[in-house]
Order: sequence, then structure tokens, then C-alpha cells
Amino acid sequence: MQRKRRNENRNKVDWTVNFAFIQNLNGLPTCLISKEKFTHNKKSNLERHFTRKYASFSTKYPTGDARKKAVEELQKSQEA
Ligand SMILES: [Zn+2]
Repeated sequence: MQRKRRNENRNKVDWTVNFAFIQNLNGLPTCLISKEKFTHNKKSNLERHFTRKYASFSTKYPTGDARKKAVEELQKSQEA
């Protein structure tokens, strides 16, 4: 039986914008800010990590375009 994975992909986009996490090659989340790797892709873990450690980030870049840009910058510096 085949299952659609569309929802899963959308979740990963949400991680990036909402919690500054990207997916590594193993499909697990990596924090863009601390480069910390998580062993479970549980949204609640990512959310906790982000809200506890980076409260100032979310204050500085509230959701929306500003946040998206800030996260994109982080991603760029990661790839460079
Ligand atoms: Zn982190």
C-alpha cells in the first residue's frame, strides 16, 4: 500500500521556517543555529529547543518574511 508523503514534506518546511531546523541527509533535523543534531524528528522537541534557546531570535524575527529571510541567511552560511 502506498502512502502519500506530502504532509511530511510540508512539515519539514515548517521546521525550517518556524524553528530554524533543516533536515540532514539521514532525514533528521539539525539546528541551523547551534548545528545540534537531533535523533528524533519530533516536532515538539524542535519547538522546545527553539523556544528555550532562541527566544530572542523569534522576537527579533517574528514569523513572516523577516523570519524567512533570517532562516535563509542561516541556511546559506551553513552551505558555504
Ligand atoms: Zn540549536
